[in-house]
Amino acid sequence: MSARFDAIIIGTGQAGPPLAARLSEAGMKVAIIERKQFGGTCVNTGCIPTKTLVASAYAAQLARRAPEYGVDIGGQVRVDMKRVKARKDDIAGRSREAVETWMRGLANGTVYLGHGRFESAHSVRVNDELLEAEKIFINVGARPLVPPMPGLDQVRYLTSSSMMEIDYVPEHLIVVGGSYVGLEFGQMYRRFGAKVTIVEKFDRLIAREDEDVTRTVKEILEAEGVAVRLKAECMTARKQGERVVIGLDCAEDSREVEGSHLLLAVGRVPNTDDLGLDKAGVETDKVGYIKVDDQLRTNVPGIWALGDCNGKGAFTHTSYNDYEIVAANLLDNDTRKVSDRIMTYALFIDPPLGRAGMTAAQVQDSGRQALVATRPMARVGRAVEKGETQGFMKVMVDAQSKEILGAAIFGVTGDEVIHVLLDVMYAKAPYTTVSRAMHIHPTVAELLPTLLQELRPLE
Ligand SMILES: Cc1cc2nc3c(=O)[nH]c(=O)nc-3n(C[C@H](O)[C@H](O)[C@H](O)COP(=O)(O)OP(=O)(O)OC[C@H]3O[C@@H](n4cnc5c(N)ncnc54)[C@H](O)[C@@H]3O)c2cc1C
Repeated sequence: MSARFDAIIIGTGQAGPPLAARLSEAGMKVAIIERKQFGGTCVNTGCIPTKTLVASAYAAQLARRAPEYGVDIGGQVRVDMKRVKARKDDIAGRSREAVETWMRGLANGTVYLGHGRFESAHSVRVNDELLEAEKIFINVGARPLVPPMPGLDQVRYLTSSSMMEIDYVPEHLIVVGGSYVGLEFGQMYRRFGAKVTIVEKFDRLIAREDEDVTRTVKEILEAEGVAVRLKAECMTARKQGERVVIGLDCAEDSREVEGSHLLLAVGRVPNTDDLGLDKAGVETDKVGYIKVDDQLRTNVPGIWALGDCNGKGAFTHTSYNDYEIVAANLLDNDTRKVSDRIMTYALFIDPPLGRAGMTAAQVQDSGRQALVATRPMARVGRAVEKGETQGFMKVMVDAQSKEILGAAIFGVTGDEVIHVLLDVMYAKAPYTTVSRAMHIHPTVAELLPTLLQELRPLE
């Protein structure tokens, strides 16, 4: 059987659904293909469920700290993982249903359940149907990378996806990978009551960040009892009874960690290997990311790639921004492009790290004259009042243009406060826009003007 459409969308991640809605509204006949769960990673195994779990972990931690606030909870804090998981499943499930209902309700949309594969540049097969269209949008996302670690085939391991099925507290969780996903799971499971060891191959956690950030991340985690093993340059895995042992150094047997469960959090690979891209002539790089231009067009006219599969971003907001760029170019005569965006993201440990633009190291590498200001959260009134004073704020500014080059707000509400600076960066306004503004007392953002009055040369 074959069917003709104006557009085909493969995958319902963070870009596909809003694009399907816009195209349908514009009167185009749209086919939407999803092989598994509506809403993709963010909704089912990524942002929404993990931040729901982070919220439970935060509640447990605050309950433990209740006496510090003069609150007596009358007994030991106990985490009921079945209820933690049920809450997570409920919130993620409602979000998934909302996406499915939305897609099925589109005036000009038709939903196909199944794995889509190109048969040519203008046709995609799903089950026994051949769908044809002049425009095809790929939003197939990525999946957890399973590294080629000797012995891994002998042991049971978890990934960020299978972690979603856990309804118990592991006795000792070994997390391989000290970046965003590994750190969030590591702190969360420590707060749920597990012993946790994070194993990282580099000499510091979340190595792309500045040294002061990575050092503070480590201090925060270690203060809660998370063990951190760095410089694990040669990792191996082996089974020991019901337990798993991770070797950290191929030359030294003594450098080992033994635990009850193993979580691999070492990155993701794009879902482009079983998409029939060769039949469409769509080019990928050597990792498998689909090559796109500044407006997310592939090398084949009429085919676009959006979200994690194009390697231009690995976040929900970058995928959603991809949708906005494609929709603006196609439907609004507005030539938006990827290079217009300023990189921003958060690390959702507690306290969170909000980041925008360059790190201090990148500013230094760029060779420009820059200024920097830092302030510990212990000198932010609102943080003191809340009893959450870990972390610091840091902003880098171009000495000549006065534009903000980058910032790290690492502390309570840092994931929100960073947007004050981000929007000023988008406006290409000088930092004095913030330093002369009057902010609300008592807030964390209230200290940004003061911080920017304390700039000194970045050395
Ligand atoms: C543990 C974890 C936590 C995260 N936390 C955050 C966070 O806090 N903030 C943030 O911004 N980002 C976070 N991310 C990243 C974020 O989830 C992704 O960047 C986001 O989901 C964007 O994905 P996407 O739109 O590219 O596609 P995805 O969401 O991955 O969706 C792709 C969809 O395509 C479907 N599909 C794939 N191949 C086919 C095919 N051939 N045929 C039909 N359907 C197909 C899949 O089933 C899936 O539904 C997190 C990720 C993980 C793993």
